Amino acid sequence: MHSENDQPKPLRVVEFYSGVGGMHYAILESKMPATVVAALDINTTANAVYRHNFPHVNLLQRDITGIKLPEFQSWNADVFMMSPPCQPFTRVGLKGDTADPRTKSFLYILDILRRMSDPPNHILLENVKGFETSETRGNLIATLEECGYSYQEFLLSPNQFGIPNSRLRYFLLAKRKPLTFAFEQQTDIMKEMPSNSLIGSTAPANQGVSSSAVANQSSHQSSQSIPCPYSIFDPEDRDTTNCREISEFLTPHSKEEEECLLLQDKLLDRYWKVLDIVTPRSRRSCCFTKAYGHYVEGTGSVLFSQTDVDAKEIFTKVSESEDQTERLDLLHQLKMRFFSPREVASLHCFSPEFTFPQVTTTKQRYRVLGNSLNAHVVAELFKILVK
Ligand code: SAH
Repeated sequence: MHSENDQPKPLRVVEFYSGVGGMHYAILESKMPATVVAALDINTTANAVYRHNFPHVNLLQRDITGIKLPEFQSWNADVFMMSPPCQPFTRVGLKGDTADPRTKSFLYILDILRRMSDPPNHILLENVKGFETSETRGNLIATLEECGYSYQEFLLSPNQFGIPNSRLRYFLLAKRKPLTFAFEQQTDIMKEMPSNSLIGSTAPANQGVSSSAVANQSSHQSSQSIPCPYSIFDPEDRDTTNCREISEFLTPHSKEEEECLLLQDKLLDRYWKVLDIVTPRSRRSCCFTKAYGHYVEGTGSVLFSQTDVDAKEIFTKVSESEDQTERLDLLHQLKMRFFSPREVASLHCFSPEFTFPQVTTTKQRYRVLGNSLNAHVVAELFKILVK
């Protein structure tokens, strides 16, 4: 379908559970002709961030379960994009699945889909690994089949796309028949992008606000990453040698900002053994969760960028020391810091224009980013969905 000036008519996207707009950044990166006609979320902090970056989008601060069928129809949507709450499906959660109250709104959307006279032609869904074995996923598949969609499921992580970050997630693409996918579908969950779909596609370079200064600085460092003796597991254990360097995602900070990002004594003393430490030369980092910044075990990597100290030697001394003050003095020399929220956003491939409203606290920023997604991975999926 073409409009008067022969430009393809932009696809009308509804962004459910919009959070800070990860899906919206993915659409922008994909360069596909698409426009967000409505975004919905109940969280006021996430909405403040969304509105700050996309002031003209029709963002609805509403509980999805309060939206009736006629309103869904009124959007006249071509695409539904959604990342329903993932807590009911996480490994560490209680796996409440369909019984968890947080799944209610998603089951409600499925019910609406069945009742829509003209459901959207395309659906993109994101969730955690674990969703694929849930009863909720069974409901989703049954609904898609009932409504005449073909679909493809994926389990993908940004480090497969050259981004030095692990964030293994479940994705589903669905297309309403008679539309078909341009790639060969598989019954099994795909663990790679379909062959050829990535040709000519790389993550946009230089996601950080101005990473060149930091990159130059780090090029004087030893090319070996610091073997961290106490690194926690990397859940995917992938070969990340083809990933870009962490240095490309760093942002220069003032002395005061840097100071605020340093790990506090309480955390250092208690958790130094389980820190996942990366350097600017590393090509990997752990998944950032919403507790990042005030809890360190399994919530994301911390950064070590001191060139003039021998980390290995210091860690050896720390492990031998019986004295808390001595241990802390040693650990302070490492000046380990958290990635800033903007750096986490860069690792999530949000565009350099993304900023936070000043009123949001650092804790809130990490929290909303921890709930979000990698925009580059979704951009690639969006392209093969709507092509
Ligand atoms: N993709 C988003 C984050 C999704 S996290 C991003 O890029 O930031 C799930 C979101 O669903 C949270 O922001 C939460 O506030 C929202 N949510 C949960 N239940 C909801 C409901 N019933 N109605 C609307 N939003 C809901």
